[in-house]
Amino acid sequence: MAAIAAARHGASVMLVEKGNRLGRKLLISGGGRCNVTNAKELPELIRNIPGNGKFMHSSLHNFGNRDIIRFFEELGIALKEEDRGRMFPVTDKAKTVLDALLSHLAQLQVRILLDQPVKRLLFDANAAICQGVELQGHRFLYSHGVVVAVGGCSVPKTGSTGDGYAWAKAAGHTIVPPFPTEVGITAEPEWLQLYELQGLSLRDIELTVYNPKGKKLTTEFGDMIFTHFGISGPAAFRCSHYVVTAQQKFGRQTLQTTLDLFPGLSKDTLTQQIVSLCRQHPKKTLRNLLKSFLPDRLIPCLLQSIDLDGNRTYDHLPKHGVPALADACKAWAIPVTGTLPLEQATVTGGGVSIKEIDPKTMQSKQMQGLFFAGEIMDVHAHTGGYNITVAFSSGYTAGQHAANLAKGKE
Ligand SMILES: Cc1cc2nc3c(=O)[nH]c(=O)nc-3n(C[C@H](O)[C@H](O)[C@H](O)COP(=O)(O)OP(=O)(O)OC[C@H]3O[C@@H](n4cnc5c(N)ncnc54)[C@H](O)[C@@H]3O)c2cc1C
Repeated sequence: MAAIAAARHGASVMLVEKGNRLGRKLLISGGGRCNVTNAKELPELIRNIPGNGKFMHSSLHNFGNRDIIRFFEELGIALKEEDRGRMFPVTDKAKTVLDALLSHLAQLQVRILLDQPVKRLLFDANAAICQGVELQGHRFLYSHGVVVAVGGCSVPKTGSTGDGYAWAKAAGHTIVPPFPTEVGITAEPEWLQLYELQGLSLRDIELTVYNPKGKKLTTEFGDMIFTHFGISGPAAFRCSHYVVTAQQKFGRQTLQTTLDLFPGLSKDTLTQQIVSLCRQHPKKTLRNLLKSFLPDRLIPCLLQSIDLDGNRTYDHLPKHGVPALADACKAWAIPVTGTLPLEQATVTGGGVSIKEIDPKTMQSKQMQGLFFAGEIMDVHAHTGGYNITVAFSSGYTAGQHAANLAKGKE
C-alpha cells in the first residue's frame, strides 16, 4: 500500500522484498479469507486499537476504512460486511485482495525486487538523513524517501522476523520490547486436567481479566474456544494484551480471569430462570434440565466446580445450590499463566516508539527521509480487520509523504 500511494503521488518506486513473493501474511490472514478492514466509525476503530490507537487518528483521517473499501471497489474487488463490522472480499479468498494489489502495483509501474533482504539503512555523514538501503552482496539503493514496512516478528515463516528493529535503532529510535498479542491464553495445567473441555467453543460470552491485586483490567465480549493449552478465540485474543501487560508489570504469575456465560442476564434473573425451569419439571435432574441452558460438556465441569450433585432433582438440592450455580455461570474462574509465545501470536505488540514518528506523515522525527508503516511500529489492534487497517492506513500515509518529500514538495 505504501508503494502504491508513493507511485500514485508521482514517485518512481522500488519495492524490496526479502521472500520469493509478496504478501505472505496477507494470504493467511482471516483464515485465508483476509478480513481486510472493519466498517465501524472512526472512534470505534480507535477503541479497537488498544496499542496506541490515538496515534493512528490523523492517518485514519487521511486514508481510513472507507478509503480502503473504495480503493478495492475501484480495483473491481467487492467487499462484504460480516458480523461486528468485519469486511471480507466477496470471493472469501485472501488471494483476491493480494492479486488486486499486485496488478495495481504493475499498473503503476512499481518495480519489485524479490529475494532481496535489506541488510541495513544508509544514512548521511551526520546521521540526520536516510539516503537508501543496503541489500545483500554490497548492493546499494539510493532514495530520498525510504518506507520501512517489514512487519513485527510473529509467524516468522511469512517473512516478518523483526529485521527492522535494528535498523530503526541505528537511526536513533527507541524500540518498545516486542511482545505477543491477539494470541491464545494459557491456563493452569491443573485446571485443564480437572476439566476436559478441549475443543468446546462458546458464543457471545464475556471474559474478564484481573491483575494480581484483584483489580479488573478488562471485560471482553465475543466467542471463545477451550484448547489443549487454555483458551483461544476472539474474546481470549482481545484479553491477551491485558494478560501480557499485567505480567510485565507484576511479574510472571498466575492471574485470575472469569467467564460470564450469560452476559445479557443479571445473576438474579439467571437464578430465577433456573428455579422456574426446575419448578416446571420437578422430576428431572438438574443435569438434564441444564441441557436447555448450557453446552452438554460444560455442565459436569460447572457442577463439579461448585461441588453440586447434578443427579438430584430441585427438591433435593441444598438451598444454596441454584444461586451458587448462577454465580458459577456468571463468573467461572479460570486461572491463567500467560500467553503463547510471540512466534505464534497473530500480532506483535511493541516496536518503534510512536513518540518518535510524526503521526501526520509517518516520517521519523529522528531521521529525515525515513518513514515507518504497519506492525513494525508500536501500534497493535484487536482482531476484526483492525490490524490490516492500521497497516494500509499508515502505509498509504507514509508512501504519500515519502513521494512528496522525494519530489521536493515537503
Ligand atoms: C494468522 C494471521 C491472521 C491474520 N489475520 C488478520 C486479518 O484477517 N485482519 C487483520 O486486520 N489482520 C490480520 N492479521 C494481522 C495482519 O496480517 C498484520 O498486522 C499485517 O499483515 C501487518 O502488515 P505489515 O505490512 O506491517 O507486515 P507484514 O504483513 O508482516 O509484511 C512484512 C513484509 O516485509 C518483508 N520483510 C521482512 N524483513 C525484510 C527484509 N529484511 N528485507 C526485505 N523485506 C523484508 C516480509 O517478507 C513481509 O513480506 C493476521 C495475522 C496473522 C499472523
